[in-house]
Amino acid sequence: MLFTSQSKDSLLKMAANIDPVLYAQTRNYIKGCVTKLSPFISRGVIATRDVMEILQGKGWTWKECEPLLKELAWRDYFQRVQQHHPLLHATAIKQEQSGVVNHGIPAAIFHGQTGIDGIDNGIREMLEKGYMHNHQRMYTAMLCCNIGQYHWKACADWMYYHLIDGDVASNYCSWQWTAGAFSSKRYIANQENINHYTDTAQTNTFLDADYDALREMPIPEVLQENQDWQPIHWSSSALKDAVQNKIQAFGSAADSLPVVMYSSYQLSQDDLVNIPHHKVLLLEPSFFQKFPISPNVMDWILNQAALIDGLTCFVGEWEEWSQNTTGHDCHFVEHPFFDHYQGNKMSRQWMFPEVDGYYPSFFAYWKQVEKRYTW
Ligand SMILES: Cc1cc2nc3c(=O)[nH]c(=O)nc-3n(C[C@H](O)[C@H](O)[C@H](O)COP(=O)(O)OP(=O)(O)OC[C@H]3O[C@@H](n4cnc5c(N)ncnc54)[C@H](O)[C@@H]3O)c2cc1C
Repeated sequence: MLFTSQSKDSLLKMAANIDPVLYAQTRNYIKGCVTKLSPFISRGVIATRDVMEILQGKGWTWKECEPLLKELAWRDYFQRVQQHHPLLHATAIKQEQSGVVNHGIPAAIFHGQTGIDGIDNGIREMLEKGYMHNHQRMYTAMLCCNIGQYHWKACADWMYYHLIDGDVASNYCSWQWTAGAFSSKRYIANQENINHYTDTAQTNTFLDADYDALREMPIPEVLQENQDWQPIHWSSSALKDAVQNKIQAFGSAADSLPVVMYSSYQLSQDDLVNIPHHKVLLLEPSFFQKFPISPNVMDWILNQAALIDGLTCFVGEWEEWSQNTTGHDCHFVEHPFFDHYQGNKMSRQWMFPEVDGYYPSFFAYWKQVEKRYTW
């Protein structure tokens, strides 16, 4: 199994074994040495900054690490974008996607049957294991948006649903970037490019053409059928069923100890405050109804959460929690989705805390990083 739940110690060991130079040489290939840390970074088990500090501590130079640091920084960059565009999952960040003909998801994408093996293999891996290589995600997105001319929104919802590393900021920004709604140019890859990076050797497919021809091409027949799809509805009782037998419910405590709040994006195994406290995973049905995830992803999150010592769970909205459990000070780590919690908001472990604010491009963001943080 590719992604079992992991202790932070084992993740730190994985990070210590990264060879950033080999990473830089191979990361674009599906068989390349990528870190596979994304589910744990997304879910707050390990921070991008932890990885950076480990690389630095191992004596790698900034130059040797730069390609990997840049990838890690894309995540922090997208999180910054989300702070300024909280609706980036629903509305265009820069401009409307041009040339949209379809809404929904192509059935061939949904089933991993486009006929392009390098993409279909990635989709099937995602459906089975909840992970897809970055290049295959880009190929999938470009096939939907720039060849099939589907609007990015429903396709991005579908991918988010299946990814155990599902991160609203990274996912929707990447879809918008590929579709030209958060970039100046739409991304397209042809069969030759796909063969090169995905270890396939297909010819005579609908993508086996040069780039000018692909930009002018009518929508291929295989992408024309639209898939009818309804994600699972995470009602309060469905969430309670999922949690049952994995994490104990929070029983009303007779004491007035503070509470540290956990969420599906905050599964740190570190002690977040250094005084006695309760640990509570708050699962708000409204959040999972707005951003549905598959039962497999939910299962993975809960298994990972169960590794947090002493964690209990409360299924319900923040208002319900605060009305029913008065007398506990609350501590939580900042996140745009959990701004409605009240209490002591702790900062995240940004890699480059001084580079905050909104930058219209990663390039502009990275220029600021280089001015202040190289070693
Ligand atoms: C259409 C599309 C949708 C995506 N959706 C998500 C998502 O929901 N959740 C998610 O975590 N990533 C998403 N990504 C980004 C990227 O594909 C994954 O982070 C990466 O493939 C994870 O594998 P890895 O840990 O082996 O990556 P590595 O190549 O080993 O990279 C190391 C770390 O850098 C960060 N990173 C690398 N590439 C990116 C990137 N392009 N954008 C943001 N962070 C990056 C991740 O934290 C990753 O764990 C998406 C990319 C695309 C093109």
